[in-house]
Amino acid sequence: MKVVKFGGTSLATAVQIRKAVEIIQGDDQRQAVVLSAPGKRNSQDIKITDLLINSYKEKTTGQDYKTTFSKIRSRFVELVDLLKVSVDIEAELNIIEQKIDAGTTLDYVESRGEYLNSLIISQVLGAEFIDAADVVRLTEDGRVDPQSYNLISDRIKQVKGRFVVPGFFGTGPDGEVKSFSRGGSDITGAIVARGVNADVYENWTDVSGILQADPRIVAEAQAVPEITYAEVRELASCGASVFHEEAISPVRDAGIPINIKNTNAPSDSGTMIVSTRATDQQPVVGVSGKKPYRILNAEKFMLNRYPELPGQIKAALKQKNLFAEFDMKGFDTLAMLVDSSDDFDTAEIGTFIAANTDVDDCSFGLSVALVGIVGAGLPGQTGLLGRMLNALDENGIEVRSISYGGSKMTALITVNLENYEQTLKVLVAQMQS
Ligand code: ASP
Repeated sequence: MKVVKFGGTSLATAVQIRKAVEIIQGDDQRQAVVLSAPGKRNSQDIKITDLLINSYKEKTTGQDYKTTFSKIRSRFVELVDLLKVSVDIEAELNIIEQKIDAGTTLDYVESRGEYLNSLIISQVLGAEFIDAADVVRLTEDGRVDPQSYNLISDRIKQVKGRFVVPGFFGTGPDGEVKSFSRGGSDITGAIVARGVNADVYENWTDVSGILQADPRIVAEAQAVPEITYAEVRELASCGASVFHEEAISPVRDAGIPINIKNTNAPSDSGTMIVSTRATDQQPVVGVSGKKPYRILNAEKFMLNRYPELPGQIKAALKQKNLFAEFDMKGFDTLAMLVDSSDDFDTAEIGTFIAANTDVDDCSFGLSVALVGIVGAGLPGQTGLLGRMLNALDENGIEVRSISYGGSKMTALITVNLENYEQTLKVLVAQMQS
């Protein structure tokens, strides 16, 4: 059995929904279907989930929420109309509106886009609708409760043929509807895949797989045919938004591969996310970055004797609402990357740290970006990283620091902020050469 999950852009309009339906019906193995709420129809549009959240907020702050709710209403009414299904959508919407009026929870309100969309599309498919509230359990802090796997496997024993489960929510320990973090339909898909012990978890989106870099920066970035769960995690930690992080562990633990596919180009093979892969063809899978940071340079004679120093510096930064990532230790020096998304007075903070910690001296360098070069083939091929760094050098990009992430499959480099985009372009060109 294949579990198929369609994201919001794949379901934003009746035309997109028909494409998804065709994909589902094109393969008898695609029996378990998990759906997001309708997403943006164009770049100016607002996702149904955001409209729902807005209406909740407007209600709780005493503003008029009916105007926002009427936009939600007309989108669903139009969908039912265009898809010619017999769902009593007005009645469903009335229940939701009444609940908002009576002061229901945000979790309930924001989850209704998935609920309604799944109700409608299950009818188009002639498939059984299974409410996620009955089969998905969340822990108090909004994570997957593994009970869900058994609930799903028990429930599907009674199902003949296809079924549809709305993504993004389930039931919390208090018995009330609870939703995952944003983008959480990916998690539902993973739970269902684990519960039915799927052969593959197909995740349908609007790109033909995981790309080598953010296509808004590197237009030439191509889809990666195969990537490991661990590489996906590393790319995500370096800032790439590839796949919901919490959606990985349910399937990884059961060894179920994830296939990222494109609803608008279904014959593209997309990306397979697997446990292990041969790295000779594609040693590096992607590059991704985070910015802006300021490099904090602290000096301490005999640094090794002061293991508490990094913690002291971080505590001092926290007092000023600043956060550091990625410590790089030398013999008598310590460097950290301090998030500078909100600009700050470096001289003042340097003095504050010097006065409130045991450092001998503390100063800040220029604004930089952190770039991760990720690939399970990286540790085995020392010459490869050298070539990539060389290419940066030839393009006049100065690499300010080089280190490895926790695992040797990620090389972390820092470059001047103004070189960020060019760095990604040069690295992708190297990956493709
Ligand atoms: N609709 C939810 C969101 O916008 C969940 C999802 O699409 O995965 O975050």
